[in-house]
Amino acid sequence: MARILIVEDEPAIALGLEDDLKLEGYQVEAVTDGARAVARARQERFDLILLDVLLPEKDGFTVCRELRADGLRTPVIMLTAKGQEIDKVLGLELGADDYVTKPFSPRELLARIRALLRRAAEPPPLVQTYQFGDVTVDFGKFEGTRKGRKIPLTALEFKLLHAFLQHPGQVLTRDQLLDAAWGPEVHLTDRIVDVHINNLRKKIEANPSKPRFLVSVRGIGYRFESSDK
Ligand code: CA
Repeated sequence: MARILIVEDEPAIALGLEDDLKLEGYQVEAVTDGARAVARARQERFDLILLDVLLPEKDGFTVCRELRADGLRTPVIMLTAKGQEIDKVLGLELGADDYVTKPFSPRELLARIRALLRRAAEPPPLVQTYQFGDVTVDFGKFEGTRKGRKIPLTALEFKLLHAFLQHPGQVLTRDQLLDAAWGPEVHLTDRIVDVHINNLRKKIEANPSKPRFLVSVRGIGYRFESSDK
């Protein structure tokens, strides 16, 4: 059964939560301050954390930020007080997954807990096939097609395309592209990137000299234009 860490300094609320969650079959541990919460979450694996905002030692936002900075991806539901509207948003920006406003209904909270636990249990969606214009790239099969005909893409070109398709609309520097396609260990002149981008354009662009997808950003690098214009 899922293990839940409750971080709440008001004894009545903490006890109520503990009872509700245990009744649902969850394993529960409760702590009453932020510093202890960080320590426990680092020591042991919990499946979910219920995190109050106003806490002694360290507030809930700080706790959340520190755990995320550690790379901890445990789902976090913030328990906020009424009137903490801005705080709510802030909580989500800090890497919290959801929030409930006190006083919350146990039923609502349980529904959100279940939803988050379900989501956490699913493997992240693995997008393997991308389409832009008349081009389709399948990273599962390492196959590219344009207008239904195969494009002879090299392994390096697949890597470059993958980097672009993961960050549509963002500028990628030549350095970032070198890292993505050649690896950080390899030291090459970044002009090599331009050569391969030009080759790639010939394969995926209708008019390689006026690229629609792989757009140059002067002095910086390249951007993948995802929107169909
Ligand atoms: Ca509190």
